[in-house]
Amino acid sequence: MKIRTGIGIDAHCFAEGRRLMLGGVEIEHPLGLAGHSDADVLTHAIADALLGAAGLEDIGHYFPDDDPGLKDISSLEIIRRVMELVRRRGCEVGNIDAVLVLEEPRIAPYRERIRSSLAGALEIPEADISVRATTTEMMGFTGRGEGIAACATCLVECAGSIIMEMDL
Ligand code: MG
Repeated sequence: MKIRTGIGIDAHCFAEGRRLMLGGVEIEHPLGLAGHSDADVLTHAIADALLGAAGLEDIGHYFPDDDPGLKDISSLEIIRRVMELVRRRGCEVGNIDAVLVLEEPRIAPYRERIRSSLAGALEIPEADISVRATTTEMMGFTGRGEGIAACATCLVECAGSIIMEMDL
């Protein structure tokens, strides 16, 4: 059994006329995030961390933003497909830690729903998912309220090295 870590970073800008989806949960806010999918920045960062930990390519490789079949796709569906790839590599998730970087809205009231939503899609216990938030003290694009960034790390346990050579 080999333990591996992964990191994922994502950012999307706010846009009018879009729903704000974070971790598969709709957040009440006047603006949503722009993107080809539902622009769920938190779920994207987690997906990329999982892919990295399993030694796979980045999220854009599997889910290109010019694929019409992925237009407005729920990012929970993306993360379900990512978990299929991760499990085909012989890897299981140990834990995920994610941080949202934003000035507003406040995430605390939604934190438990977000953890529950992600746990359902990943098919792992909620106890293994941590979701937190921070501001950048009004600095930079998140500080100016232009968008939201997210960073995630994860730990996976993988069975053996031969599986890592599978071409996925
Ligand atoms: Mg993204």
